[in-house]
Amino acid sequence: MQNPAVPQPERKTLDDRERMSELERLRHSCAHVLATAILRIWPDAQFAYGPAVENGFYYDLELSHRISQEDFPRIEEEMKKEIKANHVFEKRTMTREQAILDAQSGRLGGLAERPGNASKFKLDLLNQIPEGEAISYFQNGDFIDLCAGPHVMRTGNIGAFKLTTVASAYYKGDEKNPQLQRIYGTAFKNKTQLEEWVKMQEEAKRRDHRKIGAEMGLYAIDTEFVGPGMPLWLPKGTVLVEELERLAKETEFQAGYVRVRTPHLAKEKMYRTSGHLPYYAESMFPPMEMLEEDERKRRTQLTEKRADLIQLAESIERAVSPNPNGMTGEQVRHDIAKLEAEISLMGGRYYLKAMNCPHHHRIFAAEPRSYRDLPLRLAEYGCCYRYEQSGELFGLMRVRSLNMNDAHIYCTPEQFASEFRAVNEMYLKYFKVFGLEKYQMRFSTHDPLKLGLKFVDEPELWKQTEDMVRQVLVDSGIDFVEVANEAAFYGPKIDVQVWSIIGREFTIATNQVDFAVPKRFGLLYRDRDNLGKTPLCIHRAPLGTHERFIGFLIEHYAGNFPLWLAPEQVRVLTVGDDEPLATYARGIVDELHANFVRVEGDYSANKINGKVQDAETAKVHTMLVVGGRDREAGHISVRLHGKGNVGAKPRPEVIADILASIRERRA
Ligand SMILES: [Zn+2]
Ligand SMILES: [Zn+2]
Repeated sequence: MQNPAVPQPERKTLDDRERMSELERLRHSCAHVLATAILRIWPDAQFAYGPAVENGFYYDLELSHRISQEDFPRIEEEMKKEIKANHVFEKRTMTREQAILDAQSGRLGGLAERPGNASKFKLDLLNQIPEGEAISYFQNGDFIDLCAGPHVMRTGNIGAFKLTTVASAYYKGDEKNPQLQRIYGTAFKNKTQLEEWVKMQEEAKRRDHRKIGAEMGLYAIDTEFVGPGMPLWLPKGTVLVEELERLAKETEFQAGYVRVRTPHLAKEKMYRTSGHLPYYAESMFPPMEMLEEDERKRRTQLTEKRADLIQLAESIERAVSPNPNGMTGEQVRHDIAKLEAEISLMGGRYYLKAMNCPHHHRIFAAEPRSYRDLPLRLAEYGCCYRYEQSGELFGLMRVRSLNMNDAHIYCTPEQFASEFRAVNEMYLKYFKVFGLEKYQMRFSTHDPLKLGLKFVDEPELWKQTEDMVRQVLVDSGIDFVEVANEAAFYGPKIDVQVWSIIGREFTIATNQVDFAVPKRFGLLYRDRDNLGKTPLCIHRAPLGTHERFIGFLIEHYAGNFPLWLAPEQVRVLTVGDDEPLATYARGIVDELHANFVRVEGDYSANKINGKVQDAETAKVHTMLVVGGRDREAGHISVRLHGKGNVGAKPRPEVIADILASIRERRA
């Protein structure tokens, strides 16, 4: 199970704060400097959260002036002054009473007291600090903020910074709260690092999957008719989807998986059992009500009865009719409430699936299982639906409908280590196929003090599985970090981070051990001793979802996909349009087509340079250029996208090479 929830700016625990890296401290410190600068220009601004985030920091503020990019130079100018002043970030511990007074006077998140303009968000944040936890301020120059730190020593430690964007965000991410302005920026120890980062951002912009996706005609999002966050795969994008599925199916077949298919929805009971309801309800689409025939009749009866009772209650309360059976209005109201409860529980509530696991668990349960059937590896490219707030949707990267490279491996504790190792090897195999050289696994374990609270109370299983996972990681020499207290509720997990060719980081996949949910579903197998036992379950999705993974690949390859993946693999171009030449070219197209190559022909009279230009623009992987002399010699001149001419070779050799490159999925 993967939790796609967006991290909201929750209060950091003291542990989290201690773990903040030097760079995160520097960036968070820069958020204070940003606030200082804004207050110099707009003293009324009210500040809320100002954390360090991936790639930088932000600060949320309320201000009647709408800040735009045009304001950035002015703000940055003030920030530079504050950094030049080299103020100390001075920490002071305060009493709650004093802090409340300071917030009321507008002093917190301000340069001075601001009568009539209380620091309302800081006041609210104060109330969230648990009783007994220290309350502290950090002050740089005139600016005082309610903050637990940590910070760098002085404002002058901020070597280089840049404001990047401004967006809007609800206070605490809740649309019922006021909408604030969120200013993003980034900061580094020195100028060189900042410049490198800026360069990478520009390259990332050039490779933006939304831009390339539109140019190449890979997918469309039709907000009006289909809905936001639900990509339509156009024919060329569908090629990518199906090539990835083919890769996954072949790989999984060789690794002993079997394939299953499941519906897109299931009854409420499924998700109550899995535990998605009620805890995960916010990330699911609202339920569909569906009554079977007999239930519909019963509901009509109950609704009519309820209408009668409402009338009765009203007349009793108005004292116009004597009450039958000596019932009071209150008693009748009570009966109405009971009826309403019954009506609301009637029939079936169906949910679109947010995950495939529960369906797979029911497939496990569909037949009696013995230890001889294990490990059972059920694989499916499952289509899931998750409710993401519209403001969080982002191209293919954050969507509402997603197709997941999912599988669940049911095994005995003895089989666990080898199964887990095989899963890891599959990840590595894929990394090789896609030329991902930099990756890291993040191994999240439990905290023994939180057994039964944050983590399912199975101390032995935790220890066993964590030891095994750790051993597998060490043995395979994979670069990994271990983080305590971040496992899933039901078992340790591994998040896989990869870096694209331009050094951008993505979390593409999760690999999890689950020893709690199979029990909730009552899954059993007969062991050698003929006793019913609960299997362990491994959730794995090395290629993540099509949406996210293809979004990542578009950036990684800048749309220049390797031959096996390219939507248009080959285009045959003629130098001129005389008939014998066109016939020769058509023969090549037909031969490739018969071998399932995605090939087009351009036999027009246009100049060859223009034809090549068209094919380059369309990011066709291989261009086969044929002229009169090629035809006479039975040759083909090969040109590769972005690489230019690689010379003429005999036709059979060229075709054999193309087929081999596709078959071997060469990079
Ligand atoms: Zn701070
Ligand atoms: Zn799962």
